[in-house]
Amino acid sequence: MTPTTSDVAVIGGGPGGSTVATHLARAGLSVVVFEREVFPRFKVGESLVPATMLLLERLGVLERVERGGYQVKYGATFLDEETGLGHTFYFLRGMPWPNWTYNVPRADFDALLLDHARKQGAVVHQPAAVGGVTFDAAGVTLDVASGDDRLTHRARFLVDASGRDGFLAGRLGRRVRVPNLGKVALFAHYRGADRFPGVEEGNVRIYLFDGGWFWWIPMGGDLTSIGVVLHARVARAHAGAPEALFEAMVQRCRAVADHLGAAERVTPIHRTANFAYTNTPVVGDRFLVVGDAIAFVDPIFSSGVFIAMRTAELAADTILAAFADGRFSARRFAAYERRVGRGMSPFFTFINRYYEPAFLDLFLRPRNVFGMVRAVLNVLSGGSFIRMPLRVRLSLTLLFGLARINTWVRRRAGRPVESRLEW
Ligand SMILES: Cc1cc2nc3c(=O)[nH]c(=O)nc-3n(C[C@H](O)[C@H](O)[C@H](O)COP(=O)(O)OP(=O)(O)OC[C@H]3O[C@@H](n4cnc5c(N)ncnc54)[C@H](O)[C@@H]3O)c2cc1C
Repeated sequence: MTPTTSDVAVIGGGPGGSTVATHLARAGLSVVVFEREVFPRFKVGESLVPATMLLLERLGVLERVERGGYQVKYGATFLDEETGLGHTFYFLRGMPWPNWTYNVPRADFDALLLDHARKQGAVVHQPAAVGGVTFDAAGVTLDVASGDDRLTHRARFLVDASGRDGFLAGRLGRRVRVPNLGKVALFAHYRGADRFPGVEEGNVRIYLFDGGWFWWIPMGGDLTSIGVVLHARVARAHAGAPEALFEAMVQRCRAVADHLGAAERVTPIHRTANFAYTNTPVVGDRFLVVGDAIAFVDPIFSSGVFIAMRTAELAADTILAAFADGRFSARRFAAYERRVGRGMSPFFTFINRYYEPAFLDLFLRPRNVFGMVRAVLNVLSGGSFIRMPLRVRLSLTLLFGLARINTWVRRRAGRPVESRLEW
């Protein structure tokens, strides 16, 4: 069979793949996306962060998203059932991004983004699973299976947007698990779950309890995504079916049990485990990696879709520059790798601290001194991957410093200091 050809081949049609494909096709490159699954398909990860709106605008898809009937979200409500502490953060006005965003059923949202890429000129093969890859000095050859058909595709450049599959890491590099994080998550969609009134309706809610924490993401059409991230010991102690474990956790978390009431579950209970990792390589001769195929750590701050789309946007800029001067060696992509590392690290630091009681004390009783609340909201909005002014970095350093002092105070008072991740 004669191989098909393109300038850039993209593995995966999730938010990362659609974003890079759209930008490259709009700039005039020939782009082919291979997506293994038929859309729409169920996917976890419905809560977006406000800076995503900038990315949707730059993709030229914002108006379509705005017509999608998605639930608007102005903030995030945290409640720790063990300590009784709780706080609602509202995204700030006057930032380079709006003070709101959406909660989106990913089946619908991902299909919309991929369709947009197609309309902007990318060729999308679906279902089409990439099985083999060979690099040479002039490009890359892919072996693709689409139903009973096999095809060979030849491209000058490859983007790995294969999400948690980590296509290239599995073949050329490796995946390193992040210790203690990413234990077990169980989740489903419900209809008829309780809604907060007014502007709070779309708030993502996080309920911490002794078994782990629940997310509660209200979406349009009276749908709510509810999921629980469990400590390893809790999951280990339970041999039964996921449904029984999920129900047992609902009964252990008072707020979720109360708000769920007689809501009807409209999807199966999905389960995922060991989802915290970092992959290598991120760049190489004639390839770049974006989104979850680089790393994923924890869903607590709803950053996954944003990071996938932002890394894809940065990748598109990098690839266009490479095509402009015809050089595709790994060395010229080192700046992309550094930029991605800098953008991800505030999220990862925050995530680790979040599980420490001494930090949670401060986080759930925020005082707006030295711009600390603003700095927290910057990270929660996705701003750290867009613009991280010096004063924001200093405020975060101060916050983490205060958390260390609080650890010392708690230890002296005989109160728990152990990170919840150690359980
Ligand atoms: C428990 C949990 C909760 C989460 N909650 C949130 C949240 O609230 N908000 C948020 O922003 N993020 C959340 N996330 C993360 C979010 O789902 C991901 O970060 C996001 O989907 C990453 O986008 P991506 O494009 O990199 O990968 P994906 O969306 O995973 O897309 C990758 C695509 O590649 C395709 N693919 C893989 N291998 C191949 C192959 N060989 N050939 C062809 N196609 C292939 C797959 O079918 C898939 O469609 C959560 C994650 C978990 C685990």
